[in-house]
Amino acid sequence: METISNTIKVEKVKTSKIDKVDFNNLAFGKVLTDHMMVCDFKNGAWETPKIVPYQPITLDPSAKIFHYGQSVFEGMKAYKDADKNVWLFRPLENQKRINISSKRLAIPEIPEEHFMEGLKALLKVDHEWIPTTEGSSLYIRPFVFASGNGFHASPADEYKFIIACAPSGSYFAGKVKVLIEEKYSRSANGGVGYAKAGGNYAGQFYPTQLAVEKGYNQVVWTDDNTHEYIEEAGAMNIFIRINDTLITSPTSDRILDGITRKSLLEIAKDENIAVAVRKITVKEVVEASKNGSLKEMFGAGTAAVISPISTFGHQGQDYDLPELENSYASILKKRITDIQYNKAEDKFGWRY
Ligand code: PMP
Repeated sequence: METISNTIKVEKVKTSKIDKVDFNNLAFGKVLTDHMMVCDFKNGAWETPKIVPYQPITLDPSAKIFHYGQSVFEGMKAYKDADKNVWLFRPLENQKRINISSKRLAIPEIPEEHFMEGLKALLKVDHEWIPTTEGSSLYIRPFVFASGNGFHASPADEYKFIIACAPSGSYFAGKVKVLIEEKYSRSANGGVGYAKAGGNYAGQFYPTQLAVEKGYNQVVWTDDNTHEYIEEAGAMNIFIRINDTLITSPTSDRILDGITRKSLLEIAKDENIAVAVRKITVKEVVEASKNGSLKEMFGAGTAAVISPISTFGHQGQDYDLPELENSYASILKKRITDIQYNKAEDKFGWRY
C-alpha cells in the first residue's frame, strides 16, 4: 500500500553546515539544521510533505499571514540517549494540539500521518544535529501559516506547514524574577489563549518589555476579568507549592494545555506529592509568602522544562521564595528528563 512515508521526497543539501556549529555554545533557536519539512495545502487538501534544504521562503505581500496573523505553531524536542537512539516525548500530543490551535484560527487541520511521517523523515536526515551533551536536545518547531493571497479579511485558501529544527543546549535561566501582571492580559474567555497562535505571543511582548524595564524577567498572567487569579508564567504553565501541596490552575479558554504541565501532574501523583488543580488567587500567594507557607513557584514548558522562580513582584513589593533542598521542582525535573533521555523506566508510555 502506498503510504505517506514512502512517498516523501528528500532533497538533501550538497554540503552540510554542521561542522561550522559550536555545539557547546548554542543560543536558543538561532542555529537551524540543514533541512526542513514543507507541506502545502492547495486546492482543498494537504499535499505530501517533502524534505528540502533549509532555505528562505517567498510569499506574496498580500499573503494573509502578514495581514491577519493566521498562524499557529508547536514546540517539541528530540533527545538522543547514550546509545544514540532518538526519542520524542509525547509527540502525538503536539500533533493533536496543533490541530486544536488550527481549528480556532480557521486553518485546515493536518492529518496525523502528514505530521508524524513528515517529522520522522526530517529527523532521519538531520539526526546528526541532535546534540548529546547533558541537558541538550533538538528543539523542533512545527508551524502553519496562511500563504494564500488577498486583502479580504477571511481565511486563506492556501497554507504552508513547515517543520524546522534548532539544536539547543541545556537551559539555565538563573534567578527568575517575575511580575504579577494587573493591567494587561494574554487571553480572555472566548479568545485564543488555549491555542498556540502566533498573535498570542506578539501580544505578550510589550507587557513583558515593561516588566523587564522594571527589573523583572517575566510576567505572571492573571485572569483578564479581575486580575485576581494566577494563570500562567510567561509562555509556561505555572505551579505553586504551598506547604506540601503543589497547585496549578485548571486549563481553560485562556490557558494553554501544556504537555509538560500534564506530565508533571502525573509524575507528582506518582511521587505521592499532593497536587491540586484549582484556581489560585494572587492574594493567597501573597499571604502564603508572608506567613512562610509559600515554598516554591515554577514555570513548566518544553523549552526550559522547569524554571524555578526566585522572586515575584506585586503592587510595588518584591517577595522572595526560599531556596530549598530536594525541591519539588528538582525532583520533578529529574523524573521527567530521565524519561525524555531514556535514562529511566517509562511507566507512563510517553517515549516515542
Ligand atoms: N503556556 C504557554 C502560553 C506556552 O506557550 C507554552 C509552551 N508551549 C506552555 C504553556 C507550555 O506548554 P508545553 O509544556 O506543551 O511546552
